[in-house]
Amino acid sequence: MNILCVGAGFSCAVIARELAEHGLKVTVIDSRNHVAGNCHTKRDDDTNIMLHVYGPHIFHTNDQEVWEYMNNWAEFMPYINRVKTTYKGSVYSLPINLHTINQFFEQALSPNQARVYIESKADMSINIPQTFEEQAMRFVGKELYEAFFKGYTQKQWGVAPSMLPASILKRLPVRFTYDDNYFNHKYQGMPKNGYTEIVEKILNHKNIKVKLNTSFNKSMQEGFDHIFYSGPIDEYFNFKCGRLGYRTLDFKKEVFEGEYQGTAVMNYADIDIPYTRITEHKYFSPWEEHNKTVVYKEYSRQAECNDIPYYPIRFAEGDSLTPLMKYRTLANTQSSVSFIGRLGTYRYLDMDVTIRDALDTAKKTIKLINDNKQL
Ligand code: UDP
Repeated sequence: MNILCVGAGFSCAVIARELAEHGLKVTVIDSRNHVAGNCHTKRDDDTNIMLHVYGPHIFHTNDQEVWEYMNNWAEFMPYINRVKTTYKGSVYSLPINLHTINQFFEQALSPNQARVYIESKADMSINIPQTFEEQAMRFVGKELYEAFFKGYTQKQWGVAPSMLPASILKRLPVRFTYDDNYFNHKYQGMPKNGYTEIVEKILNHKNIKVKLNTSFNKSMQEGFDHIFYSGPIDEYFNFKCGRLGYRTLDFKKEVFEGEYQGTAVMNYADIDIPYTRITEHKYFSPWEEHNKTVVYKEYSRQAECNDIPYYPIRFAEGDSLTPLMKYRTLANTQSSVSFIGRLGTYRYLDMDVTIRDALDTAKKTIKLINDNKQL
């Protein structure tokens, strides 16, 4: 059986490897000149710092099997994401925790006092928050929402937080302790040699052929029994039901001697600062020493035709607003194509969920093959 995987990010790489181990012949194509998709990392020519070329990726999961899977391919170094944010000239700790609350309100509250204090600010008339704004007003109240979320979210998504789903904010914890770990997950870390090396290793198998600088076109489907497509679902159907909205990112790279901001991620909450955050990449590999430093200023905007799509934009009112449902219906009619990953399924996916989905898809596929059923 011959399989084509479109895209060489984690989704296709994991599926390709699982199927290759099962004896299938797999061709993986990618339009870019490297594997790993937006997780791509590479050492900077000038400073030798490991760069997260398409923005920071920190691995975090509660899924033990996924964690073990990743650890099969790479040595993971301990890494806790501790994010700071600048608002009106002061630096605060994220996610919102006891330090943020005490600093912002100039208090010295204990955990219990802070809980009561924030509850007194929360809009308790909102029962089940539907939008990002309602979620924030309900759980942290107006002042913290307006300081840390309103401007940043408007810059990140290009629309008012009242139009976005509550699920986007639910990604972030609010803590009444001094724990400033950005994630709640049990397993967290950073691969010592970056993500691209992991994907290269996953794809390094005698049954897998990788073709870079190769864009997908429908005529390629001919020679294959099945396709796993991880490109944008609307592009596959030539945008015939309209374009799905994506945010893209522009990075302005700068190199300095010594240190720049002294931490990996500094968010900028003020609406009048055009970038959302500055990342200082040597701090993603804190076990390394470098005399120079590389920073990326990150700007978010609506993706145009030839831009790299990053974030699928979902609205609070539901997906009837977008052609997504039509594409999903069309996708169901394509029995020889499986749409996978962030762009193929148009979901805001973290790496661990991407890998979980890919492992499950591969398992299901192998079972169908073993049972002599159609994929
Ligand atoms: N967010 C915010 N202020 C911040 C950080 C995040 O308002 O300082 C909002 C923003 O809308 C973002 C969402 O919270 O899209 C989720 O944040 P997360 O850090 O998970 O976003 P990521 O950059 O990982 O996609």
